[in-house]
Amino acid sequence: RRGTAGAAIPMALGFENVTQRFGAVTALSHVSLSVKPGEIVALLGQSGCGKTTLLRLAAGVERPSAGRVLLEGRDVSNPDRFIEPEHRGVGFVFQDYALFPHLSVRDNVRFGLRGQAPAAADATALRALGRVGLAELADSYPHMLSGGEQQRVALARAIAPRPGVLLMDEPFSNLDRRLRDVVRDETAALLEETGATSIIVTHDPEDAMRIADRIVLMRAGRIVQVGTGEELYRQPGSLFAARFFCDLTEVEGRVSDGAVDTPFGRFAAPGIAEGMMAVACIRPHRVRIVPKGYYLRGRLTGRRFLGEADHLQVMVDGFDRALSVRAPLSGEIAVGDEIGVEIPSDEVLVFPAADQ
Ligand code: ATP
Repeated sequence: RRGTAGAAIPMALGFENVTQRFGAVTALSHVSLSVKPGEIVALLGQSGCGKTTLLRLAAGVERPSAGRVLLEGRDVSNPDRFIEPEHRGVGFVFQDYALFPHLSVRDNVRFGLRGQAPAAADATALRALGRVGLAELADSYPHMLSGGEQQRVALARAIAPRPGVLLMDEPFSNLDRRLRDVVRDETAALLEETGATSIIVTHDPEDAMRIADRIVLMRAGRIVQVGTGEELYRQPGSLFAARFFCDLTEVEGRVSDGAVDTPFGRFAAPGIAEGMMAVACIRPHRVRIVPKGYYLRGRLTGRRFLGEADHLQVMVDGFDRALSVRAPLSGEIAVGDEIGVEIPSDEVLVFPAADQ
């Protein structure tokens, strides 16, 4: 299905041992990444971890302090043969959309088509607007559009020249939650259709999981893990990665005979040395509430109705903080009641405590 109507020729994009310094700040440190032609990759991480810098290096608006940026295997960042942004065949969607307020929607989209004859540019712009469902707004001005429509104009402007690589910086962050879901799904469909190699910067794991083939998790200028959303979620390689994808209850204990003892039970701690402290992480939706008398004993101390499941706080005997649980709860159980809690041990993630 990928790369059907009006497809771009997707390009391979690579970063080889890229370091980027701004004065005393090291924004990126020895970053290497290969993105295959047509692949959709999300750069995921907290504010300031270097996501935007990596995107700007791909676009060519920034030059690396060290290392190489490759397009189709060709070094485009070498100072002697640097390829300027406008000659890279790369489209960019900015976080704030960066539409020109004094230009109509049509002219905003035409802006990226300056090399084409006017009639051809006009036809191309209208086609791109048609693909994001906005052809009828071609003569409107940006201030007349909703946030979601502005985002779609920015997307149309970026795809109109059929770039081989499409770069998007936090494209959904200015949208309210409901609109965000819609625009995100539309964008995902459009990316598949254009076939362009795409990189999306986001700090939202849900954005990343919904839109990307592969997620690149970053922290403090480095890549910490690369994988599909499912791989990162199921097998986080570090406590940092586990925390990023889930609101965990964490409990520390000392490792003996290959397992860590905690108030919630004893959990396997493979690869962690004897006597070391380890952190066991419990995911709220993996905990089961069971009749009391079985498993762990606890008391329900908080309950919030969330629709499909409740968010529960449970004080488990021997643990001084509340355990977070996300589960449907039968109407008979009320706050203050004694309950049983089951934590399937193979669902618990264990990491070295020093690894924070
Ligand atoms: P955000 O999600 O907030 O945009 P980010 O992950 O995209 O964050 P970057 O914008 O890439 O992070 O910034 C990484 C680091 O480099 C930050 O510490 C930032 O302050 C610094 N930085 C980025 N650009 C410059 C610059 N032009 N001059 C000085 N420091 C910069």
